[in-house]
Amino acid sequence: MDTLIRDARIIDGTGAPWFRADLRISGGRIAAVGPQLAAGGATVVEAGDRYLAPGFIDAHCHDDLITLREPQRLEKIMQGVTTVVVGNCSFSLYPIAAGSRRLLADHFGALLGTTTDDEVFADLDGYRNALEGRGAALNVVSLVGHAALRLAVMGFEQRSATAEERQAMQRLLAAQLAQGAAGLSLGLVYPPSAYADQAELVALAETVRDHGKLLTAHIRSYEGGLIASTDEFLSILRSAGTAGLLSHLQSAGRPNWGNVPKVIERLETARSEGLDVSFDMYPYPAGSTYLLQLLPPEALAGGHPALVERLAGAAYRDDLRRWIEEGGNDPHRQSKVSLIGWENVRLSAIGAAALKHLEGRSLADAAASEGSTPFDLMVRLIVEDQGETGIVLFQLDEGDLHAACTHRLHLACSDGLPRIGTRPHPRGFGSFARFAGRLVRDGWFPIEDAVRRMTSAPAQRFNLSDRGVIRQGLVADLTLFDAAIDDPATFDDPVRIATGVSHVFVAGEAVVADGQPTGNLPGKIIP
Ligand SMILES: [Zn+2]
Repeated sequence: MDTLIRDARIIDGTGAPWFRADLRISGGRIAAVGPQLAAGGATVVEAGDRYLAPGFIDAHCHDDLITLREPQRLEKIMQGVTTVVVGNCSFSLYPIAAGSRRLLADHFGALLGTTTDDEVFADLDGYRNALEGRGAALNVVSLVGHAALRLAVMGFEQRSATAEERQAMQRLLAAQLAQGAAGLSLGLVYPPSAYADQAELVALAETVRDHGKLLTAHIRSYEGGLIASTDEFLSILRSAGTAGLLSHLQSAGRPNWGNVPKVIERLETARSEGLDVSFDMYPYPAGSTYLLQLLPPEALAGGHPALVERLAGAAYRDDLRRWIEEGGNDPHRQSKVSLIGWENVRLSAIGAAALKHLEGRSLADAAASEGSTPFDLMVRLIVEDQGETGIVLFQLDEGDLHAACTHRLHLACSDGLPRIGTRPHPRGFGSFARFAGRLVRDGWFPIEDAVRRMTSAPAQRFNLSDRGVIRQGLVADLTLFDAAIDDPATFDDPVRIATGVSHVFVAGEAVVADGQPTGNLPGKIIP
């Protein structure tokens, strides 16, 4: 069925100033853009003073599993999002090899909540069949998580890969890229991705390059080692000649504030030398991850069961507490707690029923109320909550955030970690409404530039050649929204749906109409 959107303020996604025109959708595509188009038999939507933009693309999130479980993705479509990029930071739901099914489900579950055996897949085709079989309101771009490759080939072992193992990972990766995966994601703080050496990373980057795809990286440190970790990523990209995306650029911990512009300078220098590299970032001064990120990576050698075994020893616990609270001597591997304090680590999602009442409190507060110390409560959560506790870290500087989110190389993202829990980071519910609303009103950028970061820029980055721009003939992924678009979700009250989006179309089909979800599920794995 055709739709005619009448007299909209059209923001075409390129950054060009808005212009007033009609837009006609036919056969899932943008059939015409111009003044006074004939209605024919089309359903007419009067735009009033609203903006019509390409559907927003979440360049970095962790919606892999939630999109299978909740195909509506309400909090996303109500922000005008029509495409999500999943499989980030080394976490994807495929591929597996004989014996790695449970390992991958456990690994994914540590970050995103308990994951069952039938929620991980042999390959991208398996994930695609499950997702498209159930249907989804929005499109999914899928990266291969490095952890899945490693778990499939060498389990959770803390060591370098042999030449044969490297080649096995490359073959497995190549098969996923051939099936349509958008690239490979590294998670160099997350074991087992963190256990890889340069030879492995460069070999995998070469496979990515051979397929013309993208290498993304949660780099090895966003604290004291930020600059060195950026250089490590750039050297991998240079060695292999691969295009890259540095994930959620930030500098964590007060002593490290002010370093984001230095990283951007390095990226610009690399670009001037011919390296195709950019970055993404969400619009909040706090991050979110799992509790195990408070530990040094070697603590997870052998996986969660091995850690629990070691935690039974008093001497091990003592050493660990000292490292976490006082930090080590290595400036490239700083303890998060030593930088920001237990009071800035908030419990966001707890699976264990006996501890669930602590959600929303800082580890300092929660420990006091339990008559415990923050460290002992952390250990209890690691043991009783299977290491699956979600946390929010208040650790970033507003100046750094502004520098990242207003730079021309920036792609907008949420980095949302959707999982069971009452106090998640609000970014999954508010990032896109925040970019298009609050930050525009606060003068961070004009509306057209905010939209460019959410549309044409990520579309180009992920090779979505028929999306991200409003042009005749392109796929009709569109969002119609009011200039008053707003994100009511806060850290204390995070599960609040954005306001101000009236219509969202995915491939021409309305998933939101008159401010209400329609229940339609036209989404696909793309490109
Ligand atoms: Zn990450």
